[in-house]
Amino acid sequence: MRASPPKESIDTDVCVIGAGAAGLTVASELGRAGQDVVLLESGGFAPEEDTQALNDLEVTGYPVRENFISRARYYGGSCNLWAGRSMRLTLEDVAPESDPERAGWPLAYAELSEWYPAATRVLRLPDPTLFEAAAHTQRLSRVERGLFDSGLVAPAISLWGRGPLRFGATLRAELRRSARVRVLLHGNALRLRADHEGRTITALDAAVLHGPSFEIRARRFVVACGGVENARLLLLSDVGNQHDLVGRYFMDHPRAVFGRVRLAPGARLPHLRGRPLADGKLQIGIGVPSAIRRAEGLLNHYATLESEFSGYAAAGYQTLVKSAKVVLRRGHAGSRWEVGRSRLSDIPGMIYLLTPKELMPHPLYRLYWAARSALHPRPDGRARVIVYFCEQPPNRESRVVLGGGRDALGQPKAELRWRMGSEVTRSLLALQERLSSALRAADIGEVEPGQGEPRYTDASHHVGTTRMSRDPRTGVVDRDCRVHGVANLYLAGSSVFPTAGHANPTPTIVALALRLADHLRRS
Ligand SMILES: Cc1cc2nc3c(=O)[nH]c(=O)nc-3n(C[C@H](O)[C@H](O)[C@H](O)COP(=O)(O)OP(=O)(O)OC[C@H]3O[C@@H](n4cnc5c(N)ncnc54)[C@H](O)[C@@H]3O)c2cc1C
Repeated sequence: MRASPPKESIDTDVCVIGAGAAGLTVASELGRAGQDVVLLESGGFAPEEDTQALNDLEVTGYPVRENFISRARYYGGSCNLWAGRSMRLTLEDVAPESDPERAGWPLAYAELSEWYPAATRVLRLPDPTLFEAAAHTQRLSRVERGLFDSGLVAPAISLWGRGPLRFGATLRAELRRSARVRVLLHGNALRLRADHEGRTITALDAAVLHGPSFEIRARRFVVACGGVENARLLLLSDVGNQHDLVGRYFMDHPRAVFGRVRLAPGARLPHLRGRPLADGKLQIGIGVPSAIRRAEGLLNHYATLESEFSGYAAAGYQTLVKSAKVVLRRGHAGSRWEVGRSRLSDIPGMIYLLTPKELMPHPLYRLYWAARSALHPRPDGRARVIVYFCEQPPNRESRVVLGGGRDALGQPKAELRWRMGSEVTRSLLALQERLSSALRAADIGEVEPGQGEPRYTDASHHVGTTRMSRDPRTGVVDRDCRVHGVANLYLAGSSVFPTAGHANPTPTIVALALRLADHLRRS
């Protein structure tokens, strides 16, 4: 690994651009397979304000969270910030549909899902069979069983490892020892240079911020800069965009806190609240059964029931959570102090810091859970906020384009025109309605419906901007993640997903990165 500017021209077999979950997985797999790899990373080992600012967006669509809390531009990428919630895309998320906008994946589900077990190992998640609903039937509490037995709602399962895997830290020693992988820190990809006919990438132009420029020549290039920056680099390079598709179909997983559930006294919902496992954590969310979704044309949303004092509950808490993350140097990519914007009344939000999802170490979480279950074996009827995690349908006009402003390297910034779409709220209201009926049918509690329009927050899941498709007229990469029409250019990361389902993207990013490494190793 090196932090200093390299010589003017570097030659390698494979150049991987971006050392996040996707790039680190591809590079380490290829290194283990004996291929010579240069892994180029914009940042260093820790966040730096000026490098992070290279990610600044011009936001002209639906608002998104600030750059520094949403996309980390340093070694390890946004998995320096991620919460570790892991889910899988379902068969229906991946299946092609008749609507050309939802072109579906050009892969049979098995061609994706066969990589999930290996991704589960990479992510150090608990036993992958726990992703199956059947694995939990015997363990659900009486009221949880009643809820799902009603047939009105279906489970949506999330797993966490003991802590969110920090890819950069985990692979650092291996890459330092590797004779095959050279990691170049503080090197920014500026432009992919193609041959005369645009069919082969001959070199990558790169530069150190406030420093020298250099080029990398490689037999093959893998762009793994994240869901926004992948599109930006292709647009800056004028590569792969013959059908004006690069940057289009941007999706996230909109999240809304909307309405409450008033639970009946004694209603124990341990799996719905989230429970510890020996090697991680599990939470079961509530979705709409797939047959009903299909019949009613609904998106694949799910909901969780969270404590009022949860990071999801109120915007004021988020400010404190951000501040705490800055203080604890966890889960941020900058040093902007936010406490000045919070209020005294937000102080209960600090309790959030003691909740397991983000900051509590796993052994402490298990202790806390055991103590709480012993102290409150029959919980009082209490209110829980409903948090909706939503799918978005692909929309051509929801997109990343090159904006008017320039970054410190003189490159046009990315402009994000995120479109929400009324289908998201229609499906949310349908889920709210079903949840209400299921709670009443099982005599567990009541929904107090949300008022007005739900307000959505993005989840920092940047999906779809260089989507995969069999046909170059409907997508940017082919089923091998190779840019259509370019012999030696591949993309890794959630930008290649044609649909987003509701599943947090990282397990699928890792599964596809393993698949891509396997393809590159064989070809
Ligand atoms: C607060 C937060 C919570 C999250 N929680 C979850 C969760 O619970 N579950 C889940 O599945 N996902 C979660 N995510 C999303 C998850 O972090 C991302 O899906 C994942 O990190 C994407 O990995 P990636 O390698 O594709 O991209 P990135 O992590 O964005 O990595 C891209 C890398 O490329 C580098 N780079 C960018 N541009 C250039 C350039 N021009 N030249 C050189 N290098 C460049 C960047 O510095 C970065 O290191 C969360 C994200 C955030 C921010």
